[in-house]
Amino acid sequence: MVAIQSFRSKEMEPRRVTVLGSTGSVGCNTVSMLESESGQYQVEALTARSNVKLLAEQARRLKPKMVVLSDKSFYRDLKRELAGSGVEVLAGAEALVEAASLNADWVMAAIVGTAGLAPTLAAIRHGAVVALANKECLVSAGVLLTKEVKKFGSDLLPVDSEHNGIFQVFDFNHPEGVEKIILTASGGPFRCFNRQQMRDVTPEEAVVHPNWEMGKKISIDCATMMNKGLERIEAFHLFPIEQKQIEILIHPQSVVHSMVAYCDGSVLAQLGTPDMRMPIAFTLAWPKRISVPVARLDLAEIGQLTFEHPNETLFPALRLAREVLEEGGSAPAVMSAANEIAVEGFLERRIGFLEIIELVERTLCKIPPLKVETIEEVSEVDSEARRLAKDLITG
Ligand code: NAD
Ligand code: MG
Repeated sequence: MVAIQSFRSKEMEPRRVTVLGSTGSVGCNTVSMLESESGQYQVEALTARSNVKLLAEQARRLKPKMVVLSDKSFYRDLKRELAGSGVEVLAGAEALVEAASLNADWVMAAIVGTAGLAPTLAAIRHGAVVALANKECLVSAGVLLTKEVKKFGSDLLPVDSEHNGIFQVFDFNHPEGVEKIILTASGGPFRCFNRQQMRDVTPEEAVVHPNWEMGKKISIDCATMMNKGLERIEAFHLFPIEQKQIEILIHPQSVVHSMVAYCDGSVLAQLGTPDMRMPIAFTLAWPKRISVPVARLDLAEIGQLTFEHPNETLFPALRLAREVLEEGGSAPAVMSAANEIAVEGFLERRIGFLEIIELVERTLCKIPPLKVETIEEVSEVDSEARRLAKDLITG
């Protein structure tokens, strides 16, 4: 009886949660989910880079203990917005780590790029359940992050829809029965273009994804298919599989979020409408499930699901990411950092669409692969890759 009572009272306590990158696409979806069941959660911290207005609005509604802007130049503005609210306001990279180290049970890691590495690592070291959207930090520091997950007893739950789908159908008790995992890819907006047509695409065209609404960086990554390259490396670190067991398949409808093929010929897939609230809710409720008001899948209405092999000549990012994963060491960190700079360069119209992956490859050629075992080593390689990629842009 006592045991049942203590179990119940723990169940009744609001869960302590933190959202890193709360003003982004994944972050806003997470915030809306927390608001829809407001009594269930105590928000410890919300963070953003520079979006003062939105972060302040979220803070007034969710009443977190702390809000952090990574860009210190907006600190005063946020402080003014939240005067008298009782919310602690901080700014800067160290404050971001402080926010991630608060006593949260569940942390959404939804910062874009390797800027999310230090805070994500801090949340892992705190033993929290970490819902990981920020794929770049797993690409750059996968070995380090997964080692720390084991050491600190944290749980790393994938938010990326493909990996979340695989997580739901992967037999972790019998991984030897898994033949391969199949990551599906929409193919992005330029799936049917040739290289000549791709040469002239604008940021406005590239940022529009056929099926998902996302932040700008990941949308461009989908258009170059670097996103699927990053996801190959992400999958390698998340699941007990070898590199050759990862297959990529183009599936333009984005309904089959991914699949696991077993040694007896069975293939288990996870399906759903393309809506990030589904994987976010999965990680929030895990190991249970909660009801989510996403559109229900109507396969008869969709009628046809199609699949085709990807074309690595048309999308060299797929080949590059495969080679980089085989190479290991610092190569994935270099690829990811150079890609961030190249995407920025493209969005600022300093380079063309096809030059994005060319620039990543040229940066990789300039940095010999090194061993990276600490966060400091990853950060050094990351900075060097950014510097070289920027030099290549400015010529
Ligand atoms: P976004 O650009 O919409 O949001 C990014 C968030 O990170 C914002 O809150 C922003 O303020 C914050 N941020 C940006 N730069 C920062 C910095 N230097 N320091 C601290 N904070 C910073 O991005 P998104 O689409 O929400 O994606 C977030 C992550 O989730 C990415 O790694 C992306 O690949 C991954 N992801 C996103 C989706 C999606 O549907 N949007 C799906 C799968 C995976
Ligand atoms: Mg994905």
